Amino acid sequence: MLISKTLRCKVFNPTEKKLELLNGEYLNFQIYARCGKNFGVYSLTKSTFNFKYKRKSRKRKQPMPLAGQSTQFRITNNKLTPYWFKLPVKGKRGGIWLPIKPHENIDSSWEVREAKVIKRKKDFWIYITIRKEVSLKTSYSSVLALDIGEKVIAAAVLSSVRKPIFLGREVRGIRRHHAWLRKRLQERKLFKKLKEMRGKEGRRVELVLHEVSKYIVELAEENNSIIVLGDLKGIRKGRKGKRFNRIINSFPFNKLSFFIEYKAHLKGIAVVKIGEEYTSKICSRCGERGKRIKQGLFKCPNCGYQANADFNGAMNILKRSLEHVSKDGAVAFSPEPPMTEKTRAEAHV
Ligand SMILES: [Zn+2]
Repeated sequence: MLISKTLRCKVFNPTEKKLELLNGEYLNFQIYARCGKNFGVYSLTKSTFNFKYKRKSRKRKQPMPLAGQSTQFRITNNKLTPYWFKLPVKGKRGGIWLPIKPHENIDSSWEVREAKVIKRKKDFWIYITIRKEVSLKTSYSSVLALDIGEKVIAAAVLSSVRKPIFLGREVRGIRRHHAWLRKRLQERKLFKKLKEMRGKEGRRVELVLHEVSKYIVELAEENNSIIVLGDLKGIRKGRKGKRFNRIINSFPFNKLSFFIEYKAHLKGIAVVKIGEEYTSKICSRCGERGKRIKQGLFKCPNCGYQANADFNGAMNILKRSLEHVSKDGAVAFSPEPPMTEKTRAEAHV
């Protein structure tokens, strides 16, 4: 499986000469992007830009795109920074090697693809797309099932332990606090402040999502579990109704599942998505229709089972995913074919 990501790198302490060349190339590119006048831009950069955008840009500043074959990336033993990036520059054979600081450390197993150069205030940043091939483990000893909840971001349950783990409770608090703040700022017509706050809320939530996904993947790694997620797209398409609308509107679900998948794949852990239909309404003990009563509590009128509703959901997802588990508790994973409705029904233990 091929995974890719963007590495954000700051150009770090370049020599004056290199900075001058970089500045010149970047400036000439900006002119070219705006009005098509060419004062000297590396030819492949020009054609990459033309290919990608097909017309002049009206933007004041345009990221300078670099074709993968015109760049190079090196990891060295240099003490200042081990990472070096070769940037193509018009009129300079072999380009210039720039010292860069990536936002996270990477090893040489990654392949460098295209990149783009961005200037922020006086600093240059290079965003590099990197990718690598990972192979997912095909056998596991347990299942880690996840339900996306209303009160918590994720309710997790391990097939080997079967106790609930609740994650991301703080998101609700962040949302509430910011909603309150927004209201106050609106009342006082502090629109500039309001705009600033918007980004802040998103960043705080994203930070929590990163922590939650990191924790989940670590848990799966420790327990050699395959990760099973309720399929969020299913909710979006099929389900309407108050509860689901509220969840969809208040939590960045796709982001969380993307983070989990990405981090899991990096460690060779497979993530399976299964339909989430009814997982919140069915009793995980007897399979009958139950009710979500107040404060996130689930109650089954049939067998009297009572539990946290998110935990009940996670248990249902776990049950549905148990088709991966053989009698001795081993879990096999084959990427193809995906689960069918029939196997799903059979898995209903
Ligand atoms: Zn029941």
